[in-house]
Amino acid sequence: MTKQPLKVCTNCIMDSSDPDISFDENGVCDFCNSYKRNISPNSDKKNYDDLINMATVIKEKSKNKKYDCIIGMSGGVDSSYLTYIVKEKMGLRPLILMVDTGWNLNVTNENVKKIVETLKLDLKVIKVDWEEMKDLQLSFLKSQVPYQDLPQDHAIFAGLYNYAIENGIKYVFTGANFSTEGVKPPHEWTYVNDIKLIKDIHKKYGKETLKTFPLCGMLRNRIYYRMIKGMKVIHPLNFIGFDKEKAIEELSEKFGWVRYENKHYENIFTRFYEGYYLPEKFGYDKRKCYFSSEILSNQITREEAIDLISTQPYDREIAMNDLEYIAKRLGISSDELLNIIKQENKTFRDYKNSNSILKLAIKFAMFVGVEKRNFR
Ligand SMILES: [Zn+2]
Repeated sequence: MTKQPLKVCTNCIMDSSDPDISFDENGVCDFCNSYKRNISPNSDKKNYDDLINMATVIKEKSKNKKYDCIIGMSGGVDSSYLTYIVKEKMGLRPLILMVDTGWNLNVTNENVKKIVETLKLDLKVIKVDWEEMKDLQLSFLKSQVPYQDLPQDHAIFAGLYNYAIENGIKYVFTGANFSTEGVKPPHEWTYVNDIKLIKDIHKKYGKETLKTFPLCGMLRNRIYYRMIKGMKVIHPLNFIGFDKEKAIEELSEKFGWVRYENKHYENIFTRFYEGYYLPEKFGYDKRKCYFSSEILSNQITREEAIDLISTQPYDREIAMNDLEYIAKRLGISSDELLNIIKQENKTFRDYKNSNSILKLAIKFAMFVGVEKRNFR
């Protein structure tokens, strides 16, 4: 953890806890400059009419199929609101897919149920084999890298893409959006979806074989699925001027949906990881990215963000209860888990990885306009 005072951007609240951040002569960070350059002008062009036109094309192309599209549902506000938009505003027939990694809060599953039942949709749940999930997560904890949510994130996106391809569903909808995710968490904090790293860490620290764990490498996703099989990944929330607070109000009113304390706090492991593990062990607070995204999309002011970030990510008592619960579920004691967390920090550089290739691929994606967010 850095001992020097952090240098904070004068426009958002990102700071030098991201070792790669850079500032211009006005003290504005590269996230803000990249957002202004690449995202604001483009997002203004997209609007509701484009979304409705897109729905017409999708309906026509899927008319002989049972579903028009598939929606990856986490139960969080983004994917919940997405489901409502797709069914009620776009008039599509989506299949809802939820990858159950074993860490959802009950309130999350209840929220999913409320939406799916009210909108009369089919829900497919892929339950990740718990022994494999547990083994991979324990391996990651022992590896001491900051990216402790890579096992869950990978299972969720691989489960969704693999299912869509296996079942001939071409249109994949996700709740990803620039309003709450325009500032991408820094590379050093979250890294990328690198199957080589996942496999190497698992080989070093794992005990089980990953037989059914959903896996999908970047090449399979980008080349085979998208270019050869024609899979299209669409982010409708970028077309509607997504406003999180308004979305929560609407969801509560229409479905009795219950809000969570923070973004991604619908999942116990993620809540502990983002609220305790990352800030305590590495000095990385992902709320800085979320609040900065909301500043850039004019949902909150910088002053409000500074107030919000000055509070603890989440209650220490809940953090310690979560730690106890997580340790128990992983089959170790709380002391063992705390002892693992105390070991020396490492990064992807300490393991086999595809960083240089993936970095090139992402830079290429930015160059051709597929990826618009900042990446160094
Ligand atoms: Zn900034």
